[in-house]
Amino acid sequence: LRASFSVIQKETGFVNGVIAVLHDNTEQEKIDMERREFVANVSHELRTPLTTMRSYLEALADGAWQDQELAPTFLNVTQTETERMIRLVNDLLKLSKMDASETEINKEMVEFNVFFNRIIDRFEMSKSQNVYFERELPEEQYFVEIDPDKLTQVIDNIISNALKYSPEGGKIRFAMTIEDGFILIRIVDQGMGIPKENVDKIFDRFYRVDRARSRAMGGTGLGLAISKEMINAHGGHIWAESQYGKGTTIFFTLPFEEDVGGEWE
Ligand code: ADP
Repeated sequence: LRASFSVIQKETGFVNGVIAVLHDNTEQEKIDMERREFVANVSHELRTPLTTMRSYLEALADGAWQDQELAPTFLNVTQTETERMIRLVNDLLKLSKMDASETEINKEMVEFNVFFNRIIDRFEMSKSQNVYFERELPEEQYFVEIDPDKLTQVIDNIISNALKYSPEGGKIRFAMTIEDGFILIRIVDQGMGIPKENVDKIFDRFYRVDRARSRAMGGTGLGLAISKEMINAHGGHIWAESQYGKGTTIFFTLPFEEDVGGEWE
């Protein structure tokens, strides 16, 4: 908080008042600080794969290219790092588009049960871990007006995280309930969980509980930040609850029209 004072003085020099102006700098300072932090994070996230690539390329140039065994491995590393940078830049572009409200939300009427099941099926078919899926979805149809591509990205991200952090033989539960005008989705895993004081931070840009682990798994640290923007753009909310060492639940809501269903039956 900054205060400035001006004295109201008559030509005779007689002071007949003082104006005090209080400036609230805290909000602007917070934005500036966040911006600086964001730029520092982006630079760091890009520098890491670049320095890795540089050292592998140097080794290749120094002769490793002639080594039948080393060369393919080293090239593979540079490829993986390039992929990571592409993912990161794509995520950054998505966020900056959303920040500038340039993202088009192409809404369609979608029956959420069918839509959600299809995404879960896709993961169930392709997952390589020994993780069991359980669905608790209602029998009825629920129509929501959503951008299917955007919501697919959100759900993909939540399920990939749940799989990433699930233990061998763990269970992921998918539940859907109705809470006054909203559908409430829950994706529950039995993974490592998140320390209580950090649960809300997982939706912040670049926040990771374990930076090295997230990176090793190919994460950008932006997935949930993008998901949050997308859910907000749909008029819903997203949040998490977690018990460290026991598991995590990601919740999100979407508004739905209760009377729309009839027209579609
Ligand atoms: P990342 O690319 O690191 O996965 P996200 O934005 O998707 O980025 O997630 C941010 C962080 O939140 C992750 O790095 C991880 O620490 C934590 N996280 C997200 N989902 C889970 C989960 N299901 N179980 C445990 N930790 C999670």
